[in-house]
Amino acid sequence: MKFASATIVTVLTAASANAFAPASSISHARQLTSTTSLLASRQPIMAGNWKMNPATEEDALALSSALTKLLGEETCAIDDSDEMCTEVVIFPPHPFISKVRDAVEEAGITVGAQSIFFEDKGAYTGSVAASMVKSIGCEYVLCGHSERRTLFNDDDMAINKKVKKVLEMGMKPILCIGETKEEYDLKVKNEVCAMQLSKDLVGVTKEQMKDVVIAYEPVWAIGTGLVCGAEEANDTHAFLRTVLANLYDDEVAQATRIQYGGSVTPDSVDGLMAMSEIDGCLVGGASLVAESFGRIINYKKE
Ligand code: PEP
Repeated sequence: MKFASATIVTVLTAASANAFAPASSISHARQLTSTTSLLASRQPIMAGNWKMNPATEEDALALSSALTKLLGEETCAIDDSDEMCTEVVIFPPHPFISKVRDAVEEAGITVGAQSIFFEDKGAYTGSVAASMVKSIGCEYVLCGHSERRTLFNDDDMAINKKVKKVLEMGMKPILCIGETKEEYDLKVKNEVCAMQLSKDLVGVTKEQMKDVVIAYEPVWAIGTGLVCGAEEANDTHAFLRTVLANLYDDEVAQATRIQYGGSVTPDSVDGLMAMSEIDGCLVGGASLVAESFGRIINYKKE
């Protein structure tokens, strides 16, 4: 459970917020110049991104079944009314989603899609529409994952269309943002993340932000074994809240769940989750080993 009661939100000046925001998003920006302290609580959310793994449906079902046996008491049970239980979402490859959903739903785990195309239907060979994944029970969709941005040329305009399509269909986007190693070394991490956030959320309303999860994933930490230090990740999350405060308001800034992603393991999860601004983890490699992901889900609370 994350309480941000002591969080002092030092907001960006209107001028710097507008420098990050494209012209079309400035209309939804609320210009803040004061310092604000707010109380907010955010439900923990752990997500497993299986990427293009495992190789067969049989292996996917074996992994699903092993995972369901490792959930702790703090994990949300099916139809859980405890708003502070840990929500668990897994993102199998598209062909496995239906059967994996059947295997995990009794345990309270939800499923999501790793990607969708923003058009509704038509001649888009190889693509999958939001309505399709919705119809097989997906509640979440990853948008803007760095592998989609770099390997499949998803740019911020396409990502923004996907985020809006996912919301329009009644699902929840996990919007992934993060800087490359080069950008990190150039010390423009905050500027890059602020720019991605403001472009990818153009036209997303304050009301819709209740269903948006942000995943801060430094690209240099994804699949590399390099984890961003917990304090540094926490500082970046705090900065992202100032960006959200400028794009929306303090309420959205404090209520939006922000996950950390990038080589999270059983060894690093407790430190990350002890941070006030980190509300969960988006996990790639370690989510393919049931024991590892189980330990990450059952992170030790302070
Ligand atoms: C990811 O795929 O989003 C990810 C963070 O991968 P990994 O945990 O393997 O770095």
